[in-house]
Amino acid sequence: MAERWTAQWKELFAEVVTSGLCTGCAGCVVACPHDVLGYKDTDGVYRPFHLEEELGPADCAHGERGCTSCTRACPRFRSWEPELDNHLFGRTRAPEEMAGVSKDIILARATNREVHQKGQDGGLVSAILLWAMEHGYIDAALVSYLEGDGSSWKAVPGVARTREEVLAAAGSRYTYSANTMAYADAVAGGAEKLALVGMSCQSSVPPALTVRKAGKPARRFVLNIGLLCSKTFDDAIFEELFEAKYGLKKQDMVKMNIKGVFQIWMRNGDYHEVPLKECHAWTREGCKLCPDFAAEHADISTGGIGAFNDWTLTIVRTDIGREIIVKMLQDGTIEGRPGDDDPGAIELLRKLSIVSRRRWPSTATSGPEVGVPPKKPKVPAPAPTPVAAP
Ligand SMILES: Cc1cc2nc3c(=O)[nH]c(=O)nc-3n(C[C@H](O)[C@H](O)[C@H](O)COP(=O)(O)OP(=O)(O)OC[C@H]3O[C@@H](n4cnc5c(N)ncnc54)[C@H](O)[C@@H]3O)c2cc1C
Ligand code: SF4
Ligand code: SF4
Repeated sequence: MAERWTAQWKELFAEVVTSGLCTGCAGCVVACPHDVLGYKDTDGVYRPFHLEEELGPADCAHGERGCTSCTRACPRFRSWEPELDNHLFGRTRAPEEMAGVSKDIILARATNREVHQKGQDGGLVSAILLWAMEHGYIDAALVSYLEGDGSSWKAVPGVARTREEVLAAAGSRYTYSANTMAYADAVAGGAEKLALVGMSCQSSVPPALTVRKAGKPARRFVLNIGLLCSKTFDDAIFEELFEAKYGLKKQDMVKMNIKGVFQIWMRNGDYHEVPLKECHAWTREGCKLCPDFAAEHADISTGGIGAFNDWTLTIVRTDIGREIIVKMLQDGTIEGRPGDDDPGAIELLRKLSIVSRRRWPSTATSGPEVGVPPKKPKVPAPAPTPVAAP
């Protein structure tokens, strides 16, 4: 018989929120039926916190009385990976499936010129959202916008209900946006069927809500689109690196991308590259132990690695994901080509998934590290050839 689930905020606080495992995905906040969890997204902190004073920050009176929604919703709590794998795929990931379980890997892009141009890579994510709205699959999507007029480059969660809103949200920002936090707004606006667009960590939230029966939000997430991700950066990177070292002011930036280097396009047409090595010091705290590069629990995972810049590398994982992609290919909303057209991208997907999985600490519940090959020992530099005595 399955063991009774009794873990509440007290356990979540000790085992995830303060242990380094917390990604800031906000699954726990969305699931809390008593609204006693807040979410801090200022000063570079992206974390949940307990609002009630009664038992202090590390315990919850509702939890003491039997509420367990937050630990059920958390995609980093205990054996989350095999539980979610079993729920979505009917089996756990095989050790060699470094990028998670999938049905197909293709390259895809929007055929509509505007959608393609506004998208970060092939505009596939925006094309899916528009198509899913037009065909009654979803009423709204939880996405990310830029705050205010965009000049602060602060990424914020929001709801997209129209074509204009989907396109306004297109493109990638490389700081964190807990798109799950837009759930309450979407529901208040009357949406019943939602798509979540989110980083790998966020895309494990909907299946966690469902499989562990974490309350009402589960039934509204009908489509789950993940973004491949090896890290996000602290908001401070704009002032402390880009401006301080390179004189690049964020209010003059118009687009950014990461392709081996941090690429930045400026309003006056200038283009700059910042070596990723220099950016690492601004890796957001919540990403440092994250093992999921490939958004392994999304219906469709999307990324920009590979030789073809204006295509989206597309990993189709579930039945609903496949149904949507096939229908979109058939009606010409998107065009596709086999993933094997770019073997380098498939190899990089595997390599980057391994790099992320190596972060999972041995002190946490086993799972993400299964099958990860040991690091190759560094080959010592050859000893200098002795100079022959004259
Ligand atoms: C922080 C970050 C890191 C990434 N790292 C990698 C990587 O290492 N390797 C790789 O192959 N791909 C990475 N990606 C994915 C890649 O940049 C594209 O998002 C993906 O290929 C889809 O492109 P598209 O043109 O189909 O999407 P688009 O049509 O441009 O749609 C992108 C969607 O992502 C949402 N979004 C944008 N920024 C954020 C954010 N910060 N948080 C949450 N949602 C956001 C938008 O609201 C939009 O709905 C990353 C994306 C992000 C946001
Ligand atoms: S990982 Fe997500 S669900 Fe878990 S504690 Fe952190 S914010 Fe909450
Ligand atoms: S690396 Fe990406 S997926 Fe992992 S915690 Fe950071 S933002 Fe989330």
